[in-house]
Parts: sequence; C-alpha cells; structure tokens
Amino acid sequence: MASSGGNYDCVVIGAGHNGLITAAYLAKAGKKVAVLERRHVLGGCSTTEELWPGFKVSTASYVVSLLLPEIIHDLKLKQNGLKILPRDPSSFTPTPDGQYLLLGHDVASNANEISKFSKRDAEKYPQYNELLERIAAVVEPILMKTAPDPLPMPKDWRSIPLTKKFRDMSRLWSFYQDFGKLGGEIPEAIELLAGAARPILERWFESEPLRATLATDAIIGAFASISAPGTAYVLLHHVMGEAGGKRGVWGFVEGGMGGIAAALAKTCEELGVTIVREAPVQKILTSERGAQGVELADGTSYEAKVVASSVDANLTFRKFLQPEQLPADFLRAISNLDYASASAKINLALAEPPQFTAYPGQGLSPIHRGTMHISPTMDYIERAYEDARFGKPSEEPILEMTMPTSVDKTIAPDGKHILSIFVQYAPYELRDANWDDIKESFADRCVAKIAEYAPNVPGAIMHRQVLSPLDLERVYGLTGGNIMQGAMNFHQLFAMRPVAGWADHRTPVKGLYLCGAASHPGGGVMGACGKNAAVEIVRDF
Ligand SMILES: Cc1cc2nc3c(=O)[nH]c(=O)nc-3n(C[C@H](O)[C@H](O)[C@H](O)COP(=O)(O)OP(=O)(O)OC[C@H]3O[C@@H](n4cnc5c(N)ncnc54)[C@H](O)[C@@H]3O)c2cc1C
Repeated sequence: MASSGGNYDCVVIGAGHNGLITAAYLAKAGKKVAVLERRHVLGGCSTTEELWPGFKVSTASYVVSLLLPEIIHDLKLKQNGLKILPRDPSSFTPTPDGQYLLLGHDVASNANEISKFSKRDAEKYPQYNELLERIAAVVEPILMKTAPDPLPMPKDWRSIPLTKKFRDMSRLWSFYQDFGKLGGEIPEAIELLAGAARPILERWFESEPLRATLATDAIIGAFASISAPGTAYVLLHHVMGEAGGKRGVWGFVEGGMGGIAAALAKTCEELGVTIVREAPVQKILTSERGAQGVELADGTSYEAKVVASSVDANLTFRKFLQPEQLPADFLRAISNLDYASASAKINLALAEPPQFTAYPGQGLSPIHRGTMHISPTMDYIERAYEDARFGKPSEEPILEMTMPTSVDKTIAPDGKHILSIFVQYAPYELRDANWDDIKESFADRCVAKIAEYAPNVPGAIMHRQVLSPLDLERVYGLTGGNIMQGAMNFHQLFAMRPVAGWADHRTPVKGLYLCGAASHPGGGVMGACGKNAAVEIVRDF
C-alpha cells in the first residue's frame, strides 16, 4: 500500500534556493510546509559538494550578486551563517599577445587599466556604467516584484480578477513614470532591454579587450551570438544587485554557493518547515477543486491544497501532470518554450594557482580573486558561437574561470585550490556525437586553451569534474541543460515568463504555483521568484 508523507498547507517541489525561500516565507506566514528535494544535497544549482576529500566545490553556480537584500534580512540568513565575500577585482582578461585588462570597482585603477588599450575608452567607461546604472535603477523594481501583466489576453486564456488588473495597472503606471525619467536615454534603454550586445559595445568602445570582457557577460548561459537581439539585457546584471556588499559587486559565498541553502535550511528548520531529501516527485495530484498534493516515485503521497513547484515549466506541466489536466492552449505554449542551451561546467582541484604569462609571479595574486576570462575578442566569441550553431562544441571555447579559494580558506586543503570553469559554447544538441563520448576530450581542449595563457595549469590538476549540458539536465533537472530553467529571451521574460498571461506564479491548476527560475524574473541566484511566489500564495490563502 502506498504510504502517506502527511498533510500540509503547502508542498514545495525542489530545494533550490527559490524553493527554500518560498517555504520559509510561507512558514513565516504561519503555514505548515514541506519541501521535497530529489537529490541528497540542498541548493539545486546553487550548491556545494565535497567532490574530493577536503575540496568543497560549488559544482554549478559560482558567484552571487542579485540575491535580494530583503530576503537576507527577512530570513536572517547572516545570523544563520551566510557570509558573502566580495569579488574584487571583477575580471582579468589576458590577451594572446601577452597583455591583460584588469577591471574592478576602483574608478581610477579601471581608467589606468583601460588606457593601456585606449585613452578614449578609459574616459567613456564611467559614462557607460552610469548609463547602465540609471537604466538598471528603473528596471530593477519591476524585476524584484511579481510581474504586472499588460497583455490583452482573451478571457478564455485566463480570466483575471479585477483586483489584479487594478494592481497591475497601478504598478505599470509607476514603471511608466519612472521610465519617463530616463528622458532622452529612453531609446538606449530600450536597446539595452531588447537589442544585441555587440553593436552597443562597438559604439561605446574601440578596444577589443574591454569590448570582449563586457560581451562575455552578455552571453553567459545563453545560446546566442553577441549580435543577436536580447543579449544586451544581461549587460545590466553587471551593475545590479548588492549582495556583494556594494551595488554591482559580485561575491563568493563562504563555504561555497551551498552556503545560501544551508542558511535557508536553518531558517526553515527554525520555522518548522519539513525538508525531505531524496524525495523525487513524479506526479502532482489534482481533483476538480485543483491541486491536492504530490506523489513521489516510490508512491508516497503528500497532501496539500497548495503545491509550489520550483522546477522548470517543462517538468512541472509536462511530466508531473497529464495533458487532460491543463488547457490545450496553455500546454501548447509550454511545449513551445525555448530551452536551447550551450553551457558546460568544469571543476578542477589544483595543486597551485594558475600562473598567467601575461601576469608573471608565483603563488596567489589579485587577479585570482576576479573572474578570469579566456575570451580575448568579440570575433573570438562569434567564432565560438558559429561552431555551436552547427551542433559542435566550440573549437576555441569561451572560458570564464573563478577561483573561490583565493578568498575562502574553508573549501580546500591548505595551499590547494578550486578552479571553477564555466564554458560556452557547448550545445546540448550535438549534430554527430554524444556528450557522454566527447565530454572528456572537450574538457581536454578547454584545459589546453587555458594552458596557452597559464601553462602550469595542466600539470597542477589533481582532480577534475566535467558537467556536460546533458549532465546539467540529469543532475539538476534542467530541461535541455538550460541553466536558467528556460532561455531568457525577451518573449520568455517579464509578463511572458513562463508564458504570456501567466507570469504571476499562478497556473491554470488552482493551487499550483511556480516559484523557481521558470517564473519571472528568471534565472540567477536572486531569490525573487521564490519570494514573490510566496507573496502571491499568501494572498490567495
Ligand atoms: C552551471 C551553472 C552555473 C551558474 N552560474 C551562476 C552564477 O554564477 N550566478 C548566478 O546568479 N546564477 C548562476 N546560475 C543560474 C542559477 O544557479 C539558477 O538560475 C538558480 O540557482 C535557480 O534556482 P532555483 O531555486 O529556481 O532552481 P534550481 O536551483 O534548479 O532548483 C530546483 C530544485 O528542484 C530539484 N528537483 C528537480 N526535479 C525534482 C523532482 N522531480 N522532485 C523533487 N525535486 C526536484 C532539483 O534537484 C533542484 O534542487 C548557474 C546555473 C548553472 C547550472
């Protein structure tokens, strides 16, 4: 006989940071909550695993900035152990001819660095950042709250209560007024929100190391060329968030990215939330009244009138529900979602830090605290994309490397290091190969590319983990390996995430909500999806 896991006000599917945040806010509102996590570790894509004795590795995500300050405060994350260590400098970009560009948060030293390549760019860089900051200040409030819906969707798509329409209109009106304050910069704001990164960067700057450093940010996690509309939007992330201590400063989490989930789990425990690990949900249970709970793969059922799913929309609607439980139009929109992805992750344990020929020296140096880019020109990025477009991993991949051990002594044995390498483009869909056959040789190619700039790296490798896009799907439950739970294209953002008309975390099944990166404002360790979902759930209670 199938066993019962108990009766709750709300069951949350998945203990990524968003699922845990939803659970904590609901418990704070007096609800009885259970979180069911498929894996043995918490945090989802923001996790720490001791892969090799003494090496505590942030296996997927590696830096944080966007985590909302009010979440850190409301959920007492600092008191419960969360410590964010600022990343400064922010980036180090060596060039093939032995030069480098080091950027950070000091205006004067940025000017010195950039003027090595272009005096004009050095003057323009602060103006560029100020523009981004002004635009981000207008956009950020709309990102951090439930998405208001301006779309004239027909009644048979979704019948929206008048109270919600008024709420949305009033929020849209204030956004409209704030947007107006940008004055003559409105066209630039629209281009940043919907346009391509490359033409913007080419207009602003003339030196390739600076252009390429900024352009790399634009395609992180996206299967897109920097010339494709939509890529400029991520440039804004560069100046957003303040989890690193100051606006726009990104940071490492002490103990690894799983430190966020560890602090959240402690808060959840204090609030009486039940967290069950190794509890894979396979079905969302419904009746004509709406959601009734979930069933695990082993048949255990958890009863609840509210189910909040932090996994992606494909799993939530196409795996956990049957087609007849959803309106056909909605299901068609979900089936059309874009999960294209081209990211892989390589984690290395190193006996010594990388020694770059462009920055000679022994041991640790300031460059190791920033993100080290192997992505020297915009044409290099375009060529890397071209390979992937035709179903091949880039011949010369873009590598974004961080070394958290440069600031955190708690995650590796004395004197040893962890190098986290985020790789583009590694397309999930390969034309003539299988990721399980080629991932190690692809990783060899990535290491060889690093060795062109830091020759000691191959000889310093003690251990290596390679996560192909297929592994990202298998390990973290990301459809198509998409690191954002669905591409962050304009038509899959804001009021259209996951699909038009359903961006307020509610779904066509009464009592079923989305609370993870599949919902507005999307991927990234931000917590807004989880918090806003809880606000809407409590409103409906
Ligand atoms: C390789 C990689 C690098 C990244 N780097 C960064 C970065 O540096 N900075 C940044 O801000 N963002 C980064 N991101 C994106 C960011 O990590 C994610 O967008 C974010 O963590 C998503 O959080 P979430 O809680 O919404 O979902 P997830 O973290 O995806 O959590 C969903 C949870 O649901 C669980 N689950 C899946 N199926 C089931 C099931 N059937 N039953 C129960 N549970 C289930 C999963 O195991 C997981 O724990 C990265 C992502 C990846 C993959």
